[in-house]
Amino acid sequence: MAIRRIIRMGHPLLREVAQPLDPNEIGGLEFNRLLTDMIDTLHDYGGVGLAAPQIGESVRLAIIEIPGGETRYGEFAPMSLAVFINPSIHVVDPAIAGYWEGCLSVPGLRGYVERPQRIKVNYTNEHREEREIELSGFPATVFQHEFDHLDGTLYVDRIGDTRRLSFEHEYERYLLPQMDG
Ligand code: ZN
Repeated sequence: MAIRRIIRMGHPLLREVAQPLDPNEIGGLEFNRLLTDMIDTLHDYGGVGLAAPQIGESVRLAIIEIPGGETRYGEFAPMSLAVFINPSIHVVDPAIAGYWEGCLSVPGLRGYVERPQRIKVNYTNEHREEREIELSGFPATVFQHEFDHLDGTLYVDRIGDTRRLSFEHEYERYLLPQMDG
């Protein structure tokens, strides 16, 4: 187990379309080491998700862990750490809503991104089981953000109005108060 370095915007690997993970590799030594490294890295850096390309591994693997309760994004159930292999997203309802997103590969910034808020995700888990879940609200945004990494897309690509891209300090000082209510 090891905490890996998270690569940042500008690194070309973040712009690659990641390779599907061979299901036969799931549970193998190499897979387990990569997954453990991702979990250790996410917990060290802090955040709600991490995609393998962010630590320099161009495979379609991501982990998501959302602390629940009442947050500035609203109230929702916590999601304990889950592993998503070769995920695909299907939009259930195209209605969009926006959140101020951040990214461990784009440190120090926040940007307002609008995305569909009801999606269905098909994926394989770490036990090689095929799964399907439906998500709405903030978790739907988190999943789309993480899986975008597998296609070489960063949230900054999806900011509709670049005036709504801000440093964290300025976001908290000037923009956050306007969002309440
Ligand atoms: Zn990210």
